[in-house]
Amino acid sequence: MNIHPKIQKLLDDISVKNILSLLELDDFSSVFEYADKINYLNHGKYIDIRAIVEFSNYCKRKCKYCGLNSTNSSAKRYRMTEKEIIHTAIEARKAGYLTAVLQSGEDSYFTVEKLGFIIKEIKKQVDMFITLSCGEKTFEELTYLKECRADRYLLKHETADDLLYDRLHPCGTLVNRTECLRNLKKLGYESGGGFMIGLPTQSLETIAKDIFLLYDLQCDMAGIGPFIPHPETELNNYSAGSTELTKKAVAITRIILPKANLPATTSLGVLDSKENNNLFSCGANVIMRKVTPPEYVKLYEIYPTDINVKNIEEERKELELAIRTLEKIPR
Ligand code: SAH
Repeated sequence: MNIHPKIQKLLDDISVKNILSLLELDDFSSVFEYADKINYLNHGKYIDIRAIVEFSNYCKRKCKYCGLNSTNSSAKRYRMTEKEIIHTAIEARKAGYLTAVLQSGEDSYFTVEKLGFIIKEIKKQVDMFITLSCGEKTFEELTYLKECRADRYLLKHETADDLLYDRLHPCGTLVNRTECLRNLKKLGYESGGGFMIGLPTQSLETIAKDIFLLYDLQCDMAGIGPFIPHPETELNNYSAGSTELTKKAVAITRIILPKANLPATTSLGVLDSKENNNLFSCGANVIMRKVTPPEYVKLYEIYPTDINVKNIEEERKELELAIRTLEKIPR
């Protein structure tokens, strides 16, 4: 296979400049093709399916794009009980899921002791990987959760642009976010960064910096998804991010992080389910499925969706079938 000279240049020197010059290509087909090849060499035909349990929508943060932010007084808040969380994860395992992603807003109610108990109970009862996605934690807290056998941690960096980061996150800093990601690596977690496509004032150069940051942090996973405006946030009048640009960003990430787990994110699926499938032929190798109980799933509204959960087992089977029709192997 002939490698496009700009891809070769990037492989010789992974830099923001060389990522940007790929992003600026008019004809991206050779990049998609190369990303697909690299994906195949590293992950074969497998698509890994993860079950996501959205266990609390309480959040102390005020991220300007997110429907869960604490200033959104119209959000009806819920917390699943420890028993419900454990039960849901076990149901997911019985349906064939090998990983449960436990996600929430930054909810102080769920102390590391509570989270640790939940992880240990799940692991006691079933053989399952646990990914946490519940916001920033201190080094000590992450150490404790690792001792409780958490396997992976998702903490998208959201944007690598300092100024934009500050504007969107009144409660945090990019330095702290990336420090957390570095701590996760130090502690032996599989670490997951990621960012949104289509945030206000974002340019192609910002996206190049985002992709480079994933490389710099040597992220084991990266969630790259389009921004979707939520009506009850300050960003309600902005347009959704581009699905095409999302695909391009995933493809370049695949090229520079060949082994990383790259999901076709839920937000891309919400905007365009066909594009979501296309992502599996340009670098993505993971998909997440909500298994959150039906009474809560509607309330976990990071951005508006009409996703519902009826039956964990049936939905898993449907998804497996859909993956097979793409000539991939669900796992
Ligand atoms: N509290 C956890 C989980 C956050 S929600 C944490 O801080 O990591 C999971 C992800 O949803 C976020 O990392 C963000 O990238 C994404 N998200 C939030 N609002 C969004 C929106 N309006 N459009 C698209 N993605 C959004």
